[in-house]
Amino acid sequence: MSENWSKRTQAVHGGIRRSQYNEVSEAIFLTQGFVYDTAEQAEARFIECGPDEFIYARYGNPTVSMFEQRIAALEGGEDAFATASGMAAVNGALTAMLRAGDHVVSAKALFGSCLYILENILTRFGVEVTFVDGTDLEQWKAAIRPDTKAVFFESMSNPTLEVIDIAGVADLAHAVGAVVIVDNVFSTPVFSKAIEQGADVVVYSATKHIDGQGRALGGVIIGTRDFIRGTVEPYLKHTGGALSPFNAWIMLKGLETMALRVNAQAETAQKLAEALEGHPALERIMYPGLKTHAQNGLVRTQLGGKGGTVLSLDIRGGKAAAFAFLNAMTVPVISNNLGDAKSIATHPATTTHQRLSDAQREELGITPGLIRFSVGLEDADDLIKDVKNALEVSQA
Ligand SMILES: *Cc1c(COP(=O)(O)O)cnc(C)c1O
Repeated sequence: MSENWSKRTQAVHGGIRRSQYNEVSEAIFLTQGFVYDTAEQAEARFIECGPDEFIYARYGNPTVSMFEQRIAALEGGEDAFATASGMAAVNGALTAMLRAGDHVVSAKALFGSCLYILENILTRFGVEVTFVDGTDLEQWKAAIRPDTKAVFFESMSNPTLEVIDIAGVADLAHAVGAVVIVDNVFSTPVFSKAIEQGADVVVYSATKHIDGQGRALGGVIIGTRDFIRGTVEPYLKHTGGALSPFNAWIMLKGLETMALRVNAQAETAQKLAEALEGHPALERIMYPGLKTHAQNGLVRTQLGGKGGTVLSLDIRGGKAAAFAFLNAMTVPVISNNLGDAKSIATHPATTTHQRLSDAQREELGITPGLIRFSVGLEDADDLIKDVKNALEVSQA
């Protein structure tokens, strides 16, 4: 295993461990437990469990471990802990390190369930949370205090696609010794270099681009060995957020094709965004790859100019027009996953962000006409034609 391999090579070979049969494709160890040769060996393993030793699948499993080592290698982290879903990863990263009385600063533009953890769960256990406009470094600077323990943000927010300056926020957080936890789903492991840019902990919903074909739930927390094994593992292994070995195998194989898929999806997203920019049926189009996007400069420095696989469209005419648009499309499916091979369209105001108040939605730019559009692997021209036709229907 070479530390010098690029992401593409790590994604194919990183973390592999072969059984005595020397299989090419990674084995699925669909086992909850492991047999000890002797009672003494069992005792010794409970005292100290080596890297290639296992006790119980809630603590670790060879297939899960291969996935953890592969994503850690391609992300440039020392270690990783895989979880049953992206939300188990977000919750695990935060809850494992925080205690009553701690202070956290978070961007306010978050996926609904991330917001719920910060706003409703952490605060219930005495953690103080200050929310800021994540794109405004002055607000981060004003909110971060000498006793701030962690900062949290989505590096590209769901669904309004604001891009947050990882290096800028990390500088402010590190000045007071706060841990920088980044939910990196929308930036994807393909385009982001979050750890290199200052993130201490990176969290993914593997359900999205890592699987990329809508088959299984999964998540992962990546960070230093100390944070993963010393802080995250004790919390997660006792609270039961483990990823199943079968789902880990899906994610492991997903990583092998992820760069091809995500690059192709982002290329189509860019084409679609350019084809739709200025369309009379649109109040706004949000895509970080467009030159008119507010943080396009940051997209160049932080993401190599790649705008990702998702765009958001604000359709003139509010909810009725947005629903007419969704119902008129024939290629994308109406669903709420993203990063899938199939294009997926979502109406956040009535689904993923339904729980928020009207005022909260307005503050976050989640208007009644907003559609989140995850671009899949279909032909770009088919998608452009279908979306343009549906936009016309929406205005009829
Ligand atoms: C989907 C998503 C999650 C949650 O992931 P699950 O695998 O559905 O639990 C967290 N953060 C972001 C930004 C997401 O898009």
